[in-house]
Amino acid sequence: MIDMTMEDFLLWVIGVPMVGIALVTLVAGMRRRARKRSLKQQIVRCRICGHLYKDKSRDKFPECPECESMNERGRSRRLG
Ligand SMILES: [Zn+2]
Repeated sequence: MIDMTMEDFLLWVIGVPMVGIALVTLVAGMRRRARKRSLKQQIVRCRICGHLYKDKSRDKFPECPECESMNERGRSRRLG
């Protein structure tokens, strides 16, 4: 017979599953944010003609299919 107090029993029955659920929720949230960031990186707005397009390549400056100008991926950090 396992010698266990009531506190130990409640810890194992309630505490351990709660920690497991918290870890699963945390990992799911991290994966969702990473997927959202990845999708956001694929969408590029042309700074010349304003065309919105999706580019799956890893190029830092994908080419606009409308006007063929090079656009910086993500938010611009230029001043002005
Ligand atoms: Zn363009």
